This record gives sequence, C-alpha cells and structure tokens, in this order.
Amino acid sequence: MSAFTLVFPSQCVSCDLEISDKAKLVCFGCASRIKWTTHLDKEVQHQIIQLVGLPCVLGAHSLFVFAKEGVEQTLIHRLKYQHSKQTGFFLGKRLGQKIKNKIQEGSIDLLVSVPSHHRKKYDRGYNQSESIAKGLSEELNIPLSIDFVFKTKNGSSQTQLNKDERAQNVKNTFVASRKFRNLNSIGLVDDVITSGATINELCKSIIEMNRSIRITIFVLGVVRHD
Ligand SMILES: [Zn+2]
Repeated sequence: MSAFTLVFPSQCVSCDLEISDKAKLVCFGCASRIKWTTHLDKEVQHQIIQLVGLPCVLGAHSLFVFAKEGVEQTLIHRLKYQHSKQTGFFLGKRLGQKIKNKIQEGSIDLLVSVPSHHRKKYDRGYNQSESIAKGLSEELNIPLSIDFVFKTKNGSSQTQLNKDERAQNVKNTFVASRKFRNLNSIGLVDDVITSGATINELCKSIIEMNRSIRITIFVLGVVRHD
C-alpha cells in the first residue's frame, strides 16, 4: 500500500462520497438504499430453494435483493468488471457477519465457489465468486476449496437469455471432483442468482459424485421475480 492510499480516504463505490472505512464500500446514504434481506430472509431462502429445485439444497442465504439500477447493481458491476477483488471479499465478509448465528458450527464441511472457465478467470484476473467465498470463509471459519469443481466449457453470457435458454446454455458445463464423496455438507457460493440454472447444473454434477450430500447456497443478491 502506498502512502497515497493511506492518506486519502476511500470513496463510496456508488456515489463517490468520501468514506472513512473502505471495508464498508458504500456511504451511509447509499447503504440505506440497499434492499438488505434482513426482513425477507425466509422469503428469499424459499425463493432460492425453489429456483434451484433440487432436494439436496436445504438452505440458502442472500445479502440483498438485487435491484436493477440500484446501489446493488453498482456493487455487482464493480465486482465483475472493475477488477475489484476487494469488493467481493468485503461483501463476502458482510454476508458472513449477517448469517453467522444461523450457521451451526461444524454443520458445513467446505465452501465451494462457482467456478468460471479458466480463460475467463485469466481475462479478468480473478473469479468473483471466489473472492466472495474468501470473505465468507474467513467470517464463518469454514475452509474454502477452489479445485473441487471445474467448468469445462465457456458458455455465452446468460444476460440476454430467458429461463429455458439459460438452462440449455449451462447444460453439462461442470465436472465435480470425486473428493465430494468424503463430504456430508457443503456451501456453494455465487454472486447473483437469477434463474438458478447455473447453480442447478452445478448441484447436479456434485450429486453425481455423492447422492446424499447436503447443499447450502450463499449469494450476494437474488433477483426477485415479482
Ligand atoms: Zn454513496
């Protein structure tokens, strides 16, 4: 860290206002506009479990409800396109702090981040789910593994696709390690859940290795379909 960054305070990622604690990422005003899931926990959990639609998924946690053109979108955009590993790490920690008391100690063996194709990771310099998972792992004290699942093809972007197209686009994308056979319960970490197609596909590849595994989903944002 240079002397310059030590002297100059950080800026809110959404409105550029100066903030004293860069781990907060956004200023007080912007933070108050984020739709945190605090009062929607049960609903959001239910929505994610339904979206993924597999009996192995027993729990789900999200930091906020994703609003297009909201502060949430600025955060995710920064995380995805502005090479901000730190944003992911801080948001992952934030999610961890929020749900810490809901996760029973020792109930999850391992965190696994949704992989990106190695070429994409190379382009971006990092994988955003991995940086979120690092923050979460630190807060929840659950080890993180980044080599338990691989993405074998680099599907096109899901952004413009409808639900069926998304499912088709991610079909047979992931290969899971045999190491899942030794685990009872894992947490899957991703940035935003929209149709649930990617996580559904990833869960299926894991179940192929271990039919009795239990899965909890951790995401920063969930897109509400109402
Ligand atoms: Zn702000």
